[in-house]
Amino acid sequence: MGTATRVVIVGGGFGGVKCARALRRRLTAEACEIVLFNRENHMVFHPLLPEVAGASLNPDAVAAPLRQMLTGVRCRTESVRAIDFARQLIEYEAHDGHTGTLPYDHVVIACGRSASLGAVPGMAYHAFALKSVGDAMALRSHVIQQLENAEVSNEAAQRRWYLSFLVIGAGFSGVEVAGEINDLVRHSRRFYPNISPGEISVTLVHSRDHILPEIGPELRTFAEEKMRDAGITILLNERVTAATSDGVVLQDGRRLRGATVVSTVGTGVPLLVEHMEAPKERGSLLTEADMRLKGSATAWAIGDCARIVNAHDGSVSPPTGQFAERQGRQVAENIARVIAGQPTTPFSYKPLGVFCAIGGRNAVAEILGRRVSGFPAWFLWRSIYLFKMPSWSRRVKVGADWMWDLLFARDLVNLKTDPTERVSHAHFRPGDFVFHQGDPALNFYSVEKGTLDIVRANETDGTEELVAVVGPGDFFGEMALIEGRARSASVRARTEVEVTTLGAQVFSRISKALAPLQQRLAEAIRQRSTRVWTRMPEVHAVLSRERVSTFVEPAPYSLEGHNTFEDALALFATHHADTVYVLEDDGRIAGVLTRTDLLRVVEVLSTRPLDERNGVSIRHFMTPDPVVVAVDDLASVGALMMWNRGLKSLPVVASAQSGRVVGCLRAETLMQQVLRTVLLTHQPTTA
Ligand SMILES: Cc1cc2nc3c(=O)[nH]c(=O)nc-3n(C[C@H](O)[C@H](O)[C@H](O)COP(=O)(O)OP(=O)(O)OC[C@H]3O[C@@H](n4cnc5c(N)ncnc54)[C@H](O)[C@@H]3O)c2cc1C
Repeated sequence: MGTATRVVIVGGGFGGVKCARALRRRLTAEACEIVLFNRENHMVFHPLLPEVAGASLNPDAVAAPLRQMLTGVRCRTESVRAIDFARQLIEYEAHDGHTGTLPYDHVVIACGRSASLGAVPGMAYHAFALKSVGDAMALRSHVIQQLENAEVSNEAAQRRWYLSFLVIGAGFSGVEVAGEINDLVRHSRRFYPNISPGEISVTLVHSRDHILPEIGPELRTFAEEKMRDAGITILLNERVTAATSDGVVLQDGRRLRGATVVSTVGTGVPLLVEHMEAPKERGSLLTEADMRLKGSATAWAIGDCARIVNAHDGSVSPPTGQFAERQGRQVAENIARVIAGQPTTPFSYKPLGVFCAIGGRNAVAEILGRRVSGFPAWFLWRSIYLFKMPSWSRRVKVGADWMWDLLFARDLVNLKTDPTERVSHAHFRPGDFVFHQGDPALNFYSVEKGTLDIVRANETDGTEELVAVVGPGDFFGEMALIEGRARSASVRARTEVEVTTLGAQVFSRISKALAPLQQRLAEAIRQRSTRVWTRMPEVHAVLSRERVSTFVEPAPYSLEGHNTFEDALALFATHHADTVYVLEDDGRIAGVLTRTDLLRVVEVLSTRPLDERNGVSIRHFMTPDPVVVAVDDLASVGALMMWNRGLKSLPVVASAQSGRVVGCLRAETLMQQVLRTVLLTHQPTTA
């Protein structure tokens, strides 16, 4: 008996699920092994997301658990990172962060599209998208919160702002979500006695001269009239050019104020497809007539991520669930045909029609060439979606929620589900590893206290190379996160260390938003990728032969932690010193104070009254916990520390643990030693 053909499906949405089901029905488990990768463990029924946002459906009704729906399919809740078409290999992010691989005989790419609010400035920060269950829940919670805010606000203008809802884009999802928000807010008003109907506004902004371009003019006009009757303002031929915390800005400079902005325009290409080396048009994967990826025999693409020509009428398939499902079914048939050695068939589908709910128990529909509108269309719309739900359990849940909605008011519970922000602190003792070379990159670290060594192991002889030494104010762990790869070096605490840890997502959000951090990251990457010693092997050779103790010089002047600004001023005024060490009573170093630090403080304090200037402790403006080098360290370690941090000297301590200052190490002295040795080596020998 031959081994089963392995078909891997990437994406468990409309297309992927239908494909898995049809393939399982068509081929036995002995003939075909089906593996389905999806980032989440459930399929999202997107058409009903506006109802979740409008509180007429509960979130779990629109998310169906994949493994309970797909008997006989191996479901893997993992993200696919890349597909190696030449080696027929899936590369995925395993549960522990490592990259795993899985060979395939056929792969079906069905990873849909992602929401992308980046095209309009400010939209990504100030607008809600509607692509995931999380988006819908966040929007619902926000809308209910605006009602709560308006109820307790005594200012009419402020109340109007809370109660102004702006929806950008009047395609199906824009129209549906505007209708849902309008219903939720207006029907709930009776529970908020401080809110009057005139204070509520829901505005639909669209860049074309009519809403719902996908349907005929008669239904479109009906939809517009019904929505206006329900109190929704429709602005046509208006393009939003920016979103702010106050609302949106239109092309002609006018501003629309509102505490809620929902954007239903702008979809992006999933990262997997963006990085894929395959023929594409505007980010969509190009396919042959039978949905095989152009130029490939074993890779197929379906749904929103693919550009598939419909042989029925020669048009490009629209990005709808209806088409994705049909493509899923037919791609399964084509794969089964290839396995059986039969010819494939081109994708061909005659769409059944379109539906759109517009709020107020109204909908518009075109089914098999017939137009229906109003309540009958809405009833038909609900019945068809109930029938189309991917499982019986979801059908019952949705049916129950809709029954509730008919009998009772919408639920105004606003559960605060914000997870604890993944910014935490960690402590390491000397010798502890923060991470090892080869570990998956999960966090970014910023050093609060102590010193750490970044070391890289030589793969051939196992020797260790010190790449950098980082201390307070420094950061590490950024390169692997940015490049999406495993750690290329280990990080080990040299002293007692405190670090702030940022999860990968928090880091990516902050680093994108914070320009100074971006610059520091770019600088750090440049510095760390320049392997100093590779460029200066002779200097390394000289300095690795000696210990820091050989070069220790007396420590500069020192002050004590209880000294004041005036004490520091007197010391710098009477002595020729660039740097002063601040010591604790037991001789440990508490901080470093430079002439520049002092001048900066003079500038600030000169604007303050005299009594405020007196007695300011130097602890407030010294650099605390400076990087130090131990007397026993190799001189090359001291040199690297100064190189990495652009310093001219370093405090030398008796040992990393004790922190007691015994002197200082100066870059100039080290360079003198290097020059002397190099000069001697290169001196011509006289016969
Ligand atoms: C608000 C809204 C309302 C809509 N209303 C309608 C409607 O009324 N009628 C209609 O026909 N269509 C509607 N659509 C469109 C419809 O939802 C899409 O066309 C359909 O979901 C596309 O199916 P798909 O299988 O291509 O992708 P999706 O259903 O988006 O599924 C893609 C899946 O792939 C997963 N994925 C992505 N990248 C990876 C990766 N690297 N590794 C693992 N998994 C990955 C995603 O997590 C996702 O689960 C609506 C869409 C939205 C957003």
